[in-house]
Amino acid sequence: MTEYRWCDHCMTRTEHEEVDDSRDYNPRGRGLYRCKRCGHTRRMRHLRPSSEIGY
Ligand SMILES: [Zn+2]
Repeated sequence: MTEYRWCDHCMTRTEHEEVDDSRDYNPRGRGLYRCKRCGHTRRMRHLRPSSEIGY
């Protein structure tokens, strides 16, 4: 899954991939994303909070 998110490192919007799918045990819906440009990882909320969860 690739999403365009803001990267603190690149100071611009870059492609991010989700590397840690923690939504099963984390009700707040945060995931670990990695910038495909610089490799910087960061925790942030999912863009689509409930469309894939179903509740
Ligand atoms: Zn970056």
